[in-house]
Amino acid sequence: MSKNILSAKADFPALNQSVNDHPLVYLDNAATTQKPQVVIDSLVHYYSRLNANIHRGNHALAVQATEAYEAARRKVAGFINAERNHEVIFTRGTTESINLLAYSFGEKFVQPGDEIIVTQLEHHSNYVPWQLMCQRREAAFRVLPFDEHGELDLTLFQRMLNEKTRLVAVNQVSNSLGTVNPVEEIIRLAHEHDIPVLVDAAQSVQHLPRDVRELDADFYVFSGHKMYGPMGIGVFYGKEKWLEVLPPFLSGGEMIDLVTPEKVTFNVLPYKFEAGTPNVAGAIGLGAAVDYLRQFDAAELQKYEEDLLAYGLQLLSDIPDLIIYGSPKHRSSILPFNVAGIQHYDMGVLLDSMGIAVRTGQHCTQPIMDALHVSGTVRASLALYNDRADLDALAAGVRRAIKMLKR
Ligand code: PLP
Repeated sequence: MSKNILSAKADFPALNQSVNDHPLVYLDNAATTQKPQVVIDSLVHYYSRLNANIHRGNHALAVQATEAYEAARRKVAGFINAERNHEVIFTRGTTESINLLAYSFGEKFVQPGDEIIVTQLEHHSNYVPWQLMCQRREAAFRVLPFDEHGELDLTLFQRMLNEKTRLVAVNQVSNSLGTVNPVEEIIRLAHEHDIPVLVDAAQSVQHLPRDVRELDADFYVFSGHKMYGPMGIGVFYGKEKWLEVLPPFLSGGEMIDLVTPEKVTFNVLPYKFEAGTPNVAGAIGLGAAVDYLRQFDAAELQKYEEDLLAYGLQLLSDIPDLIIYGSPKHRSSILPFNVAGIQHYDMGVLLDSMGIAVRTGQHCTQPIMDALHVSGTVRASLALYNDRADLDALAAGVRRAIKMLKR
């Protein structure tokens, strides 16, 4: 039987504390989620019982640590339904995964005059690496804008695709607006022109169905720390046919086969892309987070989170002078807002004084803020352990802050 969602809060020790003399209401989950005890325990177990470097020792701990690391890879591959375990590369997180691809792909496949398409809804992590790569390779950096609802225009996207387009990079859920982008359709349209697509799943892997084969994503990346796993670990998934032909990003130990002064050959997948000592504990912790998430019924969890989001949006929209940004048909987990006449930062400070953790500012998406003509927003973001009481506290906190600031 699947685990009861309403019992989840008790699994996260960090949620059970007071902040500024109020019980913590944690609504900054898009920045990072809290960790369940099982993930924390897996890290403690690794460092207290298993710690050894992997793949290169033949003593008992090295063998066990290697096996635990590779078991984590298998768990992650199963979680995203990768066809092969070696299509899962461990990185430090989404940012490193995208840098890996921008560097390797740019080096091998991008020539002067070629084009890369990203969207105006991207986090800087899925924007700047492509922008810099385009500068290096003298390629054109093209940005698909979003409309007044915070949605991408697929007709415009179709018109942007041409014989010079080399790759499309798009997030599945926008971290600033929560828009769920039609990545299935984007992939289908790009594939009609044989153009590969990178899906930034940093804000979707923990909320939406995750199936790289059904999506037919060429590349799919995410961070462990936003899906209840440890910091410093993330995933770069690539279809085998791409990983075989892409050059390595980082070089050094482990990623090589033969090294002589004249020549170097590379290790097999996935090791070709995992130079140096990896974050073994992080990978094992991510595996524990996958096990934790898989205890819930995925469809039930998605429905729970969507209902909670709708509840929160309704509560906020009842507050006078409160502006909610974007009105996409499908939104996930993000409540972006401001109150007319109040700085987002001041709102954040006052909410914090009430024990309510939200994020304020640009959320690493300056192109979105510029398009909205704001210097920043307040962002509340949900995780599976949030409940209606958290959103009631948020709405009450916002009303109180308005009273204090507009007095
Ligand atoms: N992409 C999106 C959509 C994000 O929300 C984030 C982080 O907020 C990132 C990429 C970068 O993730 P990380 O800092 O874990 O590398």
